Amino acid sequence: MNKKAVRTYICVFVVVIIFVLGVINSNRSGRRTTEENEYVLHTRQSDIDYEGILSSEYIIHDGLYYCVLKKATKNGTISIPVSVNLMTLEAKRICEIEGCNHDDGEFLCPLDSLNSSTNMCISDDGNLILVQKNKDWLFHILRYDLHTHEVIELFSTTADEPNIICCNNGVIYYSLLDAKDSKLPKTIYGIDFKTSEIVYEKYVPQDFEIYLIQNRYICAKYESECMIVDYSLKTIYASINIDGELGTWYYDTNAEEFWVSVIDYQREIGYVIKCDMNELSFETVNIAGSNVYYFQITNTRIYYSPFDPHYYGNSRTRGAKGVFDYSGGKIYSIDREQNEISSVLIYDNGETNVLCTRTSKYSILSNMLLFYDIKVCKDSEGGYEYCYFDLSSDLYKIAVDINTSKSSLIIPPD
Ligand SMILES: [Zn+2]
Repeated sequence: MNKKAVRTYICVFVVVIIFVLGVINSNRSGRRTTEENEYVLHTRQSDIDYEGILSSEYIIHDGLYYCVLKKATKNGTISIPVSVNLMTLEAKRICEIEGCNHDDGEFLCPLDSLNSSTNMCISDDGNLILVQKNKDWLFHILRYDLHTHEVIELFSTTADEPNIICCNNGVIYYSLLDAKDSKLPKTIYGIDFKTSEIVYEKYVPQDFEIYLIQNRYICAKYESECMIVDYSLKTIYASINIDGELGTWYYDTNAEEFWVSVIDYQREIGYVIKCDMNELSFETVNIAGSNVYYFQITNTRIYYSPFDPHYYGNSRTRGAKGVFDYSGGKIYSIDREQNEISSVLIYDNGETNVLCTRTSKYSILSNMLLFYDIKVCKDSEGGYEYCYFDLSSDLYKIAVDINTSKSSLIIPPD
């Protein structure tokens, strides 16, 4: 072989190698693309980015998303607790009590409620605890076993609506205000939901708020202090001064971190604090240097909306609060570890729906953005209202695929 032939041979060999490597590589990325597509298609099976993140804004249990939808019926507007399949977006009644027709015009399904409460939690062993208002106008705390479909009343009260704090270690914790005398202290109860026994009872000042009870600690707020305390509420292990009210919280069971937002509505200022539950120390989190109204963490990302109120107008029923979309309808995303580097606008809803009221927020689960279908309506006197409070209408949820912007409605079942 002469030199030229050798060179040609080497060149051909190199080209063949490059081609083969290219094919292998394209196959690899081809496989990866398919996997990514499967991620999008099979949200609840393959994407675990929110696993281990307990939230005040969503309940995920056994791969299903639990929420409350509303429907106008002969009994008035009723709240229906549902479980949603995140792939098909079909909402199913949670009630599978044998022989229950749910709503026949006379009888109210035992899990339905005459108020609009979304006040519920699910224990690790599959007990749904919910607050329900029945035709007797009393508030009932019910336990519904998702496996045996047995429903048991744990407690009922003529007082104000019980506020469920959490289910922890077989105990449901809730706070209760006296409806008749607003000056009386508030009570925090814990009920063993197997025996219905009261196992925890503490009287606290009215403005003492409990946000989370973990196995060892309680996270609470009193006056301008957010703190980690013991069950007796006597020992403070960590605390931080805050200027505003506490908003949405998340507890990351993997990192053992408690995250919560602080909001001052008057000054339109919001930020996020977190507590390392091992070190028992608080710090302020800088989320892209932003003034944060609402946020959500997953295992790897932070989603947030800056405080950017879109003011619609005065409201007859809402007084000085008026009608606002506090987030301005925008959601940004940023890496949780390197959150100062770059944030990406992932959603902008324009002015069609209200993403963030004071009481209703959004959640992002994998590629799915979920929020209540709340529109702004004008009343006969020219004031504005959230149509959420229009009791003649049904209440849906909107699901938006944040990759494709395709949106769907999650509607209440029959
Ligand atoms: Zn039923």
